[in-house]
Amino acid sequence: MKDRMSMKSMNLINPADGSLLGEQVIDGPAEVTARVAAARAAQPAWAAQPLQARLEIIKRFRQGVHAELNDLARTLTLETGKPLPHSRNELNGFLGRIDFFTAEAQAAAAGAQVWDADGMREQIERIPLGVVGNISAWNYPWFVGGNVFVPALLMGNSVVYKPSELATLTGRAMARLLHASGVPVEVFAPVYGDGATGQALLDQDLDGVFFTGSLQTGRRIAQAVGPRMIKMQLELGGKDPTYVCPDADPVLAAQSLADGAMYNAGQSCCSVERIYVHEAIYDRFIEAVVQTVRGFKMGDPMQEDTYLGPLTRAPQIEVLQAQVADAKGRGARLLTGGGRALGPFGGRGNWFEATVMDQADHSMLLMREESFGPIVGIASVGSDERAVELMNDTRYGLTAGVYTPDEARARRILSKVRAGSVYWNCCDRVSPRLPWSGWGDSGLGLTLSVEGISTFTRPKAWHLRSA
Ligand code: NDP
Repeated sequence: MKDRMSMKSMNLINPADGSLLGEQVIDGPAEVTARVAAARAAQPAWAAQPLQARLEIIKRFRQGVHAELNDLARTLTLETGKPLPHSRNELNGFLGRIDFFTAEAQAAAAGAQVWDADGMREQIERIPLGVVGNISAWNYPWFVGGNVFVPALLMGNSVVYKPSELATLTGRAMARLLHASGVPVEVFAPVYGDGATGQALLDQDLDGVFFTGSLQTGRRIAQAVGPRMIKMQLELGGKDPTYVCPDADPVLAAQSLADGAMYNAGQSCCSVERIYVHEAIYDRFIEAVVQTVRGFKMGDPMQEDTYLGPLTRAPQIEVLQAQVADAKGRGARLLTGGGRALGPFGGRGNWFEATVMDQADHSMLLMREESFGPIVGIASVGSDERAVELMNDTRYGLTAGVYTPDEARARRILSKVRAGSVYWNCCDRVSPRLPWSGWGDSGLGLTLSVEGISTFTRPKAWHLRSA
């Protein structure tokens, strides 16, 4: 047995003020191996229960989350810096996702008879994958974790869950609530630590790997998992564009897009990162977007009226500074923000100003690389065709949007855009009823929708001749 004193631990830091929130013992390869072995041993009994029994357990879990929602929101805010109202929004949205998963689980798990003629029957059976590894991001841990572990558990899998080190306390709360609801500790098995713990999980005998995170780590996951012929899903980053047509209301579009770019300090995979505005309404749009962004209140994320909190990851500040410097050097105009902010704690914590730059072009990192922060680049365009060209000039393909009162125009434009989700007069939006998937470097596979539940099963084809 391993001596606890010899185990490594990590500090959990509040990104708003740099204070110490706690400590977490890191799970090394031995612990991860033991957790996966136990998950494998426990999975058949979990899968053998009727779906109804698993549904009742997940509904109890929902009650537990609901009962503790305010405390869970505070925990999320303390460790990620997400403003408290945004944390509550995430948790309330998560409850809605559980409702969708529990309502649709029966349909997703159901087999089907697809042929019955001349003594021949053909049937499809849905079987759990087995042991699923889930490596998750910190930016929306309830959403991106829950998109995997809730349907995976409902479909009869066991789950070994690796939260981001930056959302460890939330990961601990998820495990506690799931276990208290009746999910056996071996069936939902958290492993805590940094990237090395994630790497150790990849080395295990798994039946599926479900990852949410950056393109860079996604590539490493693909290299490690690819040759093993197991199910792999990757939900990666984006460089999400929106086009504002000449017939759009520039003020309404600017207000909506400023929120789409800055909500959660821009740390959403589907944050608006590039805006193309038709030259006919460009100046009015720019004026309104700058005014809206300047109105966003930066402050202590524990305060109810704060809109803009700190960045969760300290190193991201340098990424943003480099993008601003590169864009300036290539001729972009800085309209507001542009650098590290003092923040409400006298310089402690990871603060960056809400930043808007225009006259941006595609030679700039600002318009090519994921920013994942409170910064947006804007360019003027002369036609719908040019806007489509620029929106598609990216290796990502997560979301894209159009603002116009004309639905036919929006449909014409969006049908030419390569992205997993497209928005008309809205942005930065995810629905449990629709598949969430990225094209290109934004990922592989999908979560959400009924398909995103049955993705945690494998189909078995039965050919049955009765005579
Ligand atoms: P990272 O890629 O840094 O980390 C994601 C997870 O992978 C974390 O749990 C991390 O652990 C772990 N990890 C890091 N290195 C390794 C490794 N070598 N092997 C295995 N696991 C590893 O992403 P972030 O957490 O910073 O998330 C931000 C990114 O996620 C953005 O690019 C964003 O766009 C994307 N994202 C995509 C979504 C989508 O639906 N498409 C949704 C949400 C986010 P640790 O954090 O402990 O180092």
